[in-house]
Amino acid sequence: MNVNQSAPPVPPFGQPQPVYPGYHQSGYGGQPGSTAPPTSYGAYNGPVPGYQQTPPPGVSRAPPSSEAPPASTAQAPCGQAAYGQFGQGDVQNGPSSTVQMQRFPGSQPFGSVPLAPVVSQPAVLQPFGPPPTSAQVTAQLAGMQISGAVAPALPPVGLGYALPPGSQMTGPPGPPPPMHSSQQPGYQLQQNGSFGPARGPQPNYGSPYPGASTFGSQPGPPQPLPPKRLDPDAIPSPIQVIEDDRNNRGSEPFVTGVRGQVPPLVTTNFLVKDQGNASPRYIRCTSYNIPCTSDMAKQAQVPLAAVIKPLARLPPEEASPYVVDHGESGPLRCNRCKAYMCPFMQFIEGGRRFQCCFCSCINDVPPQYFQHLDHTGKRVDAYDRPELSLGSYEFLATVDYCKNNKFPSPPAFIFMIDVSYNAIRSGLVRLLCEELKSLLDFLPREGGAEESAIRVGFVTYNKVLHFYNVKSSLAQPQMMVVSDVADMFVPLLDGFLVNVSESRAVITSLLDQIPEMFADTRETETVFAPVIQAGMEALKAAECAGKLFLFHTSLPIAEAPGKLKNRDDRKLINTDKEKTLFQPQTGAYQTLAKECVAQGCCVDLFLFPNQYVDVATLSVVPQLTGGSVYKYACFQVENDQERFLSDLRRDVQKVVGFDAVMRVRTSTGIRAVDFFGAFYMSNTTDVELAGLDGDKTVTVEFKHDDRLNEESGALLQCALLYTSCAGQRRLRIHNLALNCCTQLADLYRNCETDTLINYMAKFAYRGVLNSPVKTVRDTLITQCAQILACYRKNCASPSSAGQLILPECMKLLPVYLNCVLKSDVLQPGAEVTTDDRAYVRQLVTSMDVAETNVFFYPRLLPLTKSPIESATEPPAVRASEERLSNGDIYLLENGLNLFLWVGASVQQGVVQSLFSVSSFSQITSGLSVLPVLDNPLSKKVRGLIDSLRAQRSRYMKLIVVKQEDKLEMLFKHFLVEDKSLSGGASYVDFLCHMHKEIRQLLS
Ligand SMILES: [Zn+2]
Repeated sequence: MNVNQSAPPVPPFGQPQPVYPGYHQSGYGGQPGSTAPPTSYGAYNGPVPGYQQTPPPGVSRAPPSSEAPPASTAQAPCGQAAYGQFGQGDVQNGPSSTVQMQRFPGSQPFGSVPLAPVVSQPAVLQPFGPPPTSAQVTAQLAGMQISGAVAPALPPVGLGYALPPGSQMTGPPGPPPPMHSSQQPGYQLQQNGSFGPARGPQPNYGSPYPGASTFGSQPGPPQPLPPKRLDPDAIPSPIQVIEDDRNNRGSEPFVTGVRGQVPPLVTTNFLVKDQGNASPRYIRCTSYNIPCTSDMAKQAQVPLAAVIKPLARLPPEEASPYVVDHGESGPLRCNRCKAYMCPFMQFIEGGRRFQCCFCSCINDVPPQYFQHLDHTGKRVDAYDRPELSLGSYEFLATVDYCKNNKFPSPPAFIFMIDVSYNAIRSGLVRLLCEELKSLLDFLPREGGAEESAIRVGFVTYNKVLHFYNVKSSLAQPQMMVVSDVADMFVPLLDGFLVNVSESRAVITSLLDQIPEMFADTRETETVFAPVIQAGMEALKAAECAGKLFLFHTSLPIAEAPGKLKNRDDRKLINTDKEKTLFQPQTGAYQTLAKECVAQGCCVDLFLFPNQYVDVATLSVVPQLTGGSVYKYACFQVENDQERFLSDLRRDVQKVVGFDAVMRVRTSTGIRAVDFFGAFYMSNTTDVELAGLDGDKTVTVEFKHDDRLNEESGALLQCALLYTSCAGQRRLRIHNLALNCCTQLADLYRNCETDTLINYMAKFAYRGVLNSPVKTVRDTLITQCAQILACYRKNCASPSSAGQLILPECMKLLPVYLNCVLKSDVLQPGAEVTTDDRAYVRQLVTSMDVAETNVFFYPRLLPLTKSPIESATEPPAVRASEERLSNGDIYLLENGLNLFLWVGASVQQGVVQSLFSVSSFSQITSGLSVLPVLDNPLSKKVRGLIDSLRAQRSRYMKLIVVKQEDKLEMLFKHFLVEDKSLSGGASYVDFLCHMHKEIRQLLS
């Protein structure tokens, strides 16, 4: 986790854009235009605190945040593994990919459509690396040809598509074709008849394509040819793109000094050096080059959005942001727009004034901040001050930034445990109480503090609530029961929230007694809203922010506020009423959440349901307070304890910013218009977060409100005001400068598809609250087609309409978008429950780009192909059944699920080494733990599993699946390039469909 500590690096970021007519905001998350009263955070958005004092610019490093986790809890290394470089493939002048496809007349939009592919990649002109050379590749497949211009040095062109044996390369390598200013760097598609069936009489194919000519450029007479599927190897491969980026950009640090640089992919391990822009770990953009005008942006339809993770954890090699202390004068800000001092502010008049880079206002420099300028107009102390030289840093906040003009108290954690029959019977209560005894020693600390400043409290509940007095002076804990759940109050103040070390004996005694006290309970009914209410009231009474950890098992049907009924109804799927399954069944929880936010009360919910519990309603408060939801269906201690305890440990130890407000300021011409994530908004600009941890992201969409300027670019500044774990009020600032363009080609060269997909998924997942799911899917498809059609029309070289041409940076857009379209939320299979859908919907809302990337396109790793000695992760293969060999075993993970698939013909020695049984038939299907065996293969596989788990923010439970076993169906659900049982299209079919949509737009 991160939180403050040293100078960090920063990266570039992207852009936002148009919203589809149809759905806007949902009731969750931020709602521009909502009428709730503004929050009262002192001067945060108010007047600049006066500068009376002139303390020396105190720049200090924040003490290392203490999150030393217990050995059992590995901290995820920031989602990435190694660190690399940039250069090749840096897409400044991105090439495009071309897939020529021809559909047979009469074929279905989705389905097995025969195509004649021609894949080609243009040469790339890049800012980094040597000029590429290009080569023509023409591969003759059975009945079809693949050809393309290859730029060998770069993103392995042509290599992206594995050519089958017998492929031929023709044509000498040569210099890249000249670039046209308005076109993608060029490469000419071969327009002569060498492109496959439709191109005329060629040996090996002919065609019954009665409609072929419809597609233009198909001069040849129809000839008979059996329909062929598009070769999956001939279409853009996610694996290849990921590998290429790792190879090209994984070895050099990403230095953030240059405006508008596209960072390496989230799947590449790289180090970041902050030279003035925020690291991509904090901010990623859908594009790093924004169209200058809204007309251009509308034409391209590329959403301009930034995915911001303000408290992102950094790898150990990168330093946390410096903390700057300006003393009582507080941080220096623009008088007009309130933007904070940053490297883009322009000092003038010998350093006596500065011009705001966001609003152009001229401000006086306060005397204590004055410094001379050098001959370039730069302050001579620029490199001594983080706020003048770095993309990310923190300011200590003054009392003006505190609620009620009072410095905050340290936050508190309240553990609220369901002790109804189900919770006791499953063993949950005993397990949890035992774990808490040791876990309380690992509450978040900061600044090298010996112990955490966080106080703790305990509540148990079923239909009534039990509060505990655990004051250190007591010999035994005392219980106080509140049965009037309709009018919740906190029966004790003194002794409820305590310091762990002072009250350790009493707490231990309480945790020992709780499982015994309720061991014989017959109470099956629970309340829910009153529990949250009680926790929030307790924090209010203690005048502090904090977090509630709720451990809950069932639908709250007991008579109380927030009582729910079972309204699950699968018959609503695919009807106009399907949206109600995602909406809360009562408004009571939104009201409660609003109160929690005002108090800085963040709620984390651990659910242990045996049946429907209405996740859509129960997750409203966690969602609006910046909390997390965890779900363990049919929880059994023996099967699920490792997963639950791992999640719990990580969650409790997370560094969290409390009582936070985030504001994104932009330079003139664009502004933030829409927000996605786990937070609350009571006005159109301030994102309020009762709590914000290092895993949560806020996605912000931007729109034009004026013309942008190529020379000055566009600037974003994200300011997060929060209370640290120790109770210190701070401001974390992230700055990012983007380029602006007057040529669409520049936009398409600087997009980031993974971020685009993150945005589009969140947009769609919010859309299902208000629109039929089919409408949401169609909207996504239309937008994607518009994006690609605009590219084709304005940026690609003239070519046959039978060719699908994709911008190089977006060549994976179709495959990834298809994964979103067929995800459980948008196209559920029969096995997916309503609660699962609500749960996933809510999770995706705050995922970062790395998480959505692997969630929608899972990683599939063959285990016996690479040498056992190899310490590195084996290269992944595409998520399709066609890639599975029955003689191998594979790991598949998507950040939430982890499977080990065993082929039926896997060698007996492998079976013995991994499972300690003598044959495939003896392997237990559904196994969740591999035996610990002392042999290289066993060690390697278990090590790999550990490493995958460490990379993710939630523990992934292993499931062993045998080929042709009934569990295999579950596994196949994640082979996302294939057609899905729920009707989701295969990648090949979707690409054909997308091509058709594009052609319709172009015609
Ligand atoms: Zn300003």
